[in-house]
Amino acid sequence: MDNQETARERYGALREHMQAMKWPDSNKRAFSSKDIELLDRAFEMALAAHTGQERASGEPYIIHPMAVAELLLELGLYNREMIAAALLHDVVEDTDLIDDDIAAEFGDEISALVQGLTKLRDIKYESQGKSEEIVTKEETQAQNYLKMFIAMARDPRVIIVKLADRVHNMRTLQYKNEEKQRDTARETLEIYAPIADMMGIRHFKEELEDRAIRFLDPHACEEIEQKLTFEAEHRADFLRIIQERLRELLAQELPAHKGSSKSGEHTGFRVEGRVKSVHGIYRKMYLQRKDFEEIFDIYAVRVIVDTVHDCWNVFGLIQEIYHPIPNRFKNYIANKKANGYQSIHLTVTGKEAIPFEVQIRTWEMHALAEYGVAAHWKYKQGVQKSGGVEQWVNNVRSMLENVTDADSVEELVSSIKSDIAPPEKVYAMSPKGKAFELPLGATVIDFAYAVHTEIGHLMVGAKVNNRITPLDYKLQTGDVIEILKSSNPGKGPNRDWLKIVKTSQARSKIRVWFKTERKEENISEGRLEVERELRRSFIRLEPAELEEILFRIIERRKYPSLDEFYASIGYGGVVFAKYLPRLREEYQKMIQAHLFPEEGGVPETKRIINDKGVIVEGIDNCLVRFAQCCFPLPGDEIVGYITRGTGLTIHKIGCINVPGDLNTAPEPDRWLLARWSEKRKSAYLGALTIVSMDQTGMMADISGLLKNIHVDISSWQMRPNGDGTSTISTTVGVTGRGHLETVLSKLRQMSGIISVRMDG
Ligand code: MN
Repeated sequence: MDNQETARERYGALREHMQAMKWPDSNKRAFSSKDIELLDRAFEMALAAHTGQERASGEPYIIHPMAVAELLLELGLYNREMIAAALLHDVVEDTDLIDDDIAAEFGDEISALVQGLTKLRDIKYESQGKSEEIVTKEETQAQNYLKMFIAMARDPRVIIVKLADRVHNMRTLQYKNEEKQRDTARETLEIYAPIADMMGIRHFKEELEDRAIRFLDPHACEEIEQKLTFEAEHRADFLRIIQERLRELLAQELPAHKGSSKSGEHTGFRVEGRVKSVHGIYRKMYLQRKDFEEIFDIYAVRVIVDTVHDCWNVFGLIQEIYHPIPNRFKNYIANKKANGYQSIHLTVTGKEAIPFEVQIRTWEMHALAEYGVAAHWKYKQGVQKSGGVEQWVNNVRSMLENVTDADSVEELVSSIKSDIAPPEKVYAMSPKGKAFELPLGATVIDFAYAVHTEIGHLMVGAKVNNRITPLDYKLQTGDVIEILKSSNPGKGPNRDWLKIVKTSQARSKIRVWFKTERKEENISEGRLEVERELRRSFIRLEPAELEEILFRIIERRKYPSLDEFYASIGYGGVVFAKYLPRLREEYQKMIQAHLFPEEGGVPETKRIINDKGVIVEGIDNCLVRFAQCCFPLPGDEIVGYITRGTGLTIHKIGCINVPGDLNTAPEPDRWLLARWSEKRKSAYLGALTIVSMDQTGMMADISGLLKNIHVDISSWQMRPNGDGTSTISTTVGVTGRGHLETVLSKLRQMSGIISVRMDG
């Protein structure tokens, strides 16, 4: 049998399967005979186009688009246009067919889907320095997301097909060479898995992550798999038995809430079990440096109930039959996570001594955990249209969940296009496929200046989606914009443009152009600006001194003379304030040199003050603070959290503000692993709560004791309890957890002390 035959046979099976498919909530067929006829034609076109082509596996190429279609059908996405596009998705790129061929045969809708997929081809993870324009990984990532959003705004089905395409490519990646494997796997982890996650397609997300990490770190994954296999062999029944036991217990103990919920929603309890994914374990083992045995949530059981009251009932019941592990309890019901997540988490062991996590939540909390913000939408019929792109993606995700018939697929497409597109932004592309985010109302001039200042200056016109448009044309999301340029390099912007442009970037670039025409004015304006700034900062310098300092701090390469520097300030190209810290430093040095000529400059004290004795992976010089909720001390296990603008906050692992599972925390990238350095200099703050008798001299005795053992009191707060005792909250300077424990035991030995405990 030749390849064509094999492929036809496989399609025959798929076809039969599609004919039998039904929508979940009705008895209606998912595909009519007309739909099937269209899909047959799509298959035949793809088959003919890919004839003679092979996958790296040696299989006929057509197997790949068929597999992509099958993946979509598995998700329940019964949409003939999407399935047709899946069958045709590689046709334009890899064969002689062009867009028009598809449009002629299948019409605009399917042709647009295939075009969208062809455009998404150049989404790539680029490592630093590979491209001149794109400097950082973050920028590349942002570019990729923008492209995805543009494609999504045009038609969200494109992204879903793209993800399925990637899933199948990952399934067959072992046939490619090693370099290709690594690049593709990294791209998958950096771009596709997060997008699958955003779209709420957990199924794809987990498969993408697990397959990618296997190529990136095969040895570690093998080790994890061996351990999981061992677990599976020796503990095959473990999860099942726990679940059964819990179900029995809950059936007896939980009062039924009859008629308390609306019809169609879940009621009663559900018990689910899961084994952590290879990628999830990998993250804990290699990013958080834990041993396999130290991961307490390899097994987890989830209990979903009707009310918060029931949650606590279940919590109580679990404590009775299992043994809770200390410090592994999180009350996210009282302390919601930032993304709104609520649940009770605790880790327990049974008689097998295997720890497992129990998550207890209500149905509403469960929906929120599964669908994020979209759950509100689901439960409360339409949430405000705010929150921009995030909200938008969540809505897409929620709608995906609600696809139950052909109409809802239609609705999904049209509402994303118009109704809930991100409100204040438009996303447009250059013909080369570079994406730009601009504010609503931005014109083609704004676009030109966003691409490059020079392109703005040289602009004479623009084509939007291949049509010449006036310069005040307001961009629409999804537009492809080509800027027409003058060949005369001296051409500049037009003054009238200042009235048309929307962005301040374009406006200032136009102004700058006019200003550079008058250099002398710019130089004197620059001088004035510098003088103003110095006055504001109380820095007094002789002209010669100023000149000397400026020469030291400006980048000589960029400014051949001071006049050039002043001119840049004058027309706004340089913000002088940026140079002030350096200038102030030099100014201090100059003063110091006057005061202490023999020492030559300022002593280097800065580093020591900043050195908190904490080493953070990947960061060497950054402002470090200790969290006031858990008072971490040397000896504690710690993590760092990157705050907005104030550096890094160190927390104890196990602190109420540290998510139990950093992998699933909102913004997991902001959590960094930290440890204590060997050479620590400063004293650390430990917090104690002391309850003492109200007796004369008690406070003096306590502070005297602390002084005797060389412990500094940093803060001290006392309040009488009204029963002859007082509570003292104090923070003291200690060298570490061990030292604080010594202090604690010394205090406990004092007479008149009722109790002492460490806070945090
Ligand atoms: Mn493909």
